[in-house]
Amino acid sequence: MLFAQVASVCSPDGKLKVCIDNKGGKATYNIMYAGRQALLDSPLGFVASTGNFADSLTFVGAETTPQEIRYDLSRSKASHIEKDLNSLLVRFSNNQGREFAVRFNVSNNDVAFRYEIPMLSQLNKPDDTGRDDIKRSIRIMQEATGFCFADGTTEFVCPQSKAMIGWKGTKPSYEEDYVYDAPLTTKSKFGEGWTFPCLFKVNGGNKGVGADQKEALWVLISETGVDSHYCGCHLADICPNPKGTGWLANIAFPMADENNGNGTIEPAFALPGNTPWRTITIGSSLKPIVETTVPWDYVDQLYDPSVDYKYGKGTWSWIVWQDPSINYDDQVKFIDLANAMGYQYVLIDNWWDKNIGREGLARLVKYANSKNVDVLLWHSSSGYWNDIEQGPTNLMDNTIVRKKEMKWLKDIGVKGIKVDFFGGDKQETMRLYEDILSDANDYGLMVIFHGCTLPRGWERMYPNYVGSEAVLASENLFFDQKYCDNEAQNTATHPFIRNAVGCMEFGGSFLNTRIGKDNRSGNIRRTTDCHELAQAVLFQNPIQHFAVTPENLGRKIDSKLTSKPASEVSLGFLRDVPTTWDETRYIDGYPGKYCVVARRHGDTWYVAGNNATGKDLMLNLDLPMLKVGEKVTLFSDTKTFNKPQKAVITIDDPQKVTVTMQNNGGFVIIK
Ligand code: CA
Repeated sequence: MLFAQVASVCSPDGKLKVCIDNKGGKATYNIMYAGRQALLDSPLGFVASTGNFADSLTFVGAETTPQEIRYDLSRSKASHIEKDLNSLLVRFSNNQGREFAVRFNVSNNDVAFRYEIPMLSQLNKPDDTGRDDIKRSIRIMQEATGFCFADGTTEFVCPQSKAMIGWKGTKPSYEEDYVYDAPLTTKSKFGEGWTFPCLFKVNGGNKGVGADQKEALWVLISETGVDSHYCGCHLADICPNPKGTGWLANIAFPMADENNGNGTIEPAFALPGNTPWRTITIGSSLKPIVETTVPWDYVDQLYDPSVDYKYGKGTWSWIVWQDPSINYDDQVKFIDLANAMGYQYVLIDNWWDKNIGREGLARLVKYANSKNVDVLLWHSSSGYWNDIEQGPTNLMDNTIVRKKEMKWLKDIGVKGIKVDFFGGDKQETMRLYEDILSDANDYGLMVIFHGCTLPRGWERMYPNYVGSEAVLASENLFFDQKYCDNEAQNTATHPFIRNAVGCMEFGGSFLNTRIGKDNRSGNIRRTTDCHELAQAVLFQNPIQHFAVTPENLGRKIDSKLTSKPASEVSLGFLRDVPTTWDETRYIDGYPGKYCVVARRHGDTWYVAGNNATGKDLMLNLDLPMLKVGEKVTLFSDTKTFNKPQKAVITIDDPQKVTVTMQNNGGFVIIK
C-alpha cells in the first residue's frame, strides 16, 4: 500500500469518526459524521525551532482510551457537564528521530485536538562534551494545521482586521461584520483571514431558510485553552487545497504589526508542553453548536477564587449617555436606576479619573453601596500598543502599577474592572490577559474585557473572569444607524457562532426608541421591545449591563422634555431575567435569519426567539420542556413596537407551540 490509515477513533455514539493517515510523510486527519464527510483529509504538524514536524514523518504508534468528564461551570450556558469521550493519542517521529503526538478527544458532537510535545531527545545520549542533547524548550514557527472542506461548503465568518487601524490604532479586536452563507472563494475583507469561531455549512449551497438543512452538516471551528503559553490564532484566507481536493483553511498566527509591531508572532513554551486545543463541533443541525461545551471540557481552573464572585445585572450610563455622563451626578442617577431595577452593579466607564477623580470615586462607591449596588470600573489596558487617550491609561500594562491600582480599588470597595483596548493576539498579550486576571483575583476583583480577543476557555480557567466583548457590540447602535438597521440580524447570528464558544459582553436590551440621551434624537431603533427582551436571553454573559436609562422609568432628564417611559411589561421582564443558566437548548433557527433558544435557570425555562427574515414569521416549535395543559407566560409583539403584550397561555401541544414574530420582533415564553 502506498499509504495507510494509521489510526482512527469514534465518538461514544459511533456517529463521529476521525481517521488519521500518514501520506508521503505528511500526517492528515479527516472527519465523518453520520456517514457523511465533514472534513476532507486535512493537514497536521508544525515547524519549530527544534525541527520540522510537518514533513518526513513516521508513524510510531497509537492508543485509544475511553474517558469521562464531569464538572461544574458557574457562568456559561450550562452549570453541570457530564460527557463521555474517546481519547486517541497518535505518535509520530520526524527525520531527526524526534517524537511528538497528536491527541484527539472525540465526544458525540465535538472533536478537540492538540499537539503534545515531550522533551525532545535526538539520540538520547550524551554528546562528546558530556552534555545530553535533550531539548527542554520549543518555539513554534508555523503550524501546518488546517481544516479542509468539500466544494459547495459555505461559510458564516468574521474577517480578521489589519493591525493598528481603527479607533486610535486599537484593532484587531474581533469587531467586524460577518459574511453569511458565502462560498469558500470569498476573500476576507482585509486579506488577513477569519477570526474564531468560524461556522461552515457543508454541502450547503442553497440559501433558502431551512430549505436544505436536512442535507447539510454544520461545522463550528474554534480554539480553547489559550493562556500565557501560546498566541491566539485565526484561520488564514481559504484557498484551493494544494495537496488534494477541496478547500483548505490553515491555522494562522498573529500579524507582525500587532502590539505596535513589538513582540514575536512565534509562540514558545517549555517542554514537555502542549499547543492549545483546536475544536470542531459537528452536527446535522445547529443543535450541537448552540449547546456545545467543548470550550470548557478539556481546560482546568488555573487558580482558586479569592472571594465568592457574584454575577447579575447592571446599569451602564455610557452606552446611551456616552462620555458626558461620566460625572458624579449622572452616575448617581444610574446607581439609583440600578437600585430601582434591583440590579447588583453599575459600570462606570472611561474618563472617571479626570471627571470624577479618585476621591469622588471613593464617595460614589459608598453611595452605591448604600443603595445595595456595587461598582465596576473601566481601565485602559494600554500601554504602548495603541494611542488610546481615554483615561486612566498605563495602569494595567505592568504588574507593579497594576497591583498598586488594584489595592486601591479593593480598599475603596470596587468589585470589578472592565479593561479595554488590547493589542492583539500575540503570546505576550495572552500573558497580559492572564496576568490581569490573576492579579485581580488577588484583590477580589472580577474582570471584563472589551476591545479584546475571543475568550478561549477562560470561563473555566480563570474564576474571576466575567466576559469579553470581541463582537460588534451595542455601542455600534449608538455610532451608526446601519447597526440599528441590522440589529435583529446580529441577534440571530451570535447564539450560533460567537456566543456559542464564550461569554459575550454585548450590553444590549435597549428600551429607548432612539439611541440618544433625550430619546428623541440619535439612531432609530428598528426592533420591537420583545426583540430586546428576547436578546437578554439569546445573548449570554454572566453579568449583563442592559442599556436601560433613567428616562425609561419616566424620570425627566430635561426640564423642557416630557418623559417617554418604557412599558412596565418590558421593565418588569428586565428586572427579573436571570443572567446565569443551568441548561441551554437549541430549538430552531438559521444564522442571521432567526433564532430560538431555550435556557433554564433553576426550575424556570426561558424560551426566546427573534426574527430577522424581513417579514412576519410564524413558527411551530417543539418545546420538550413544556407539558400538555401547562400555563406559561408569553411575551409577544404588538402593532405598537414598544408596547409588548404579556399573556398567560395554555399549552395544547408542546411539540407544536405556535408563535408569531414581526420582522425585527421576538418572543419569550417563561415557564
Ligand atoms: Ca468595543
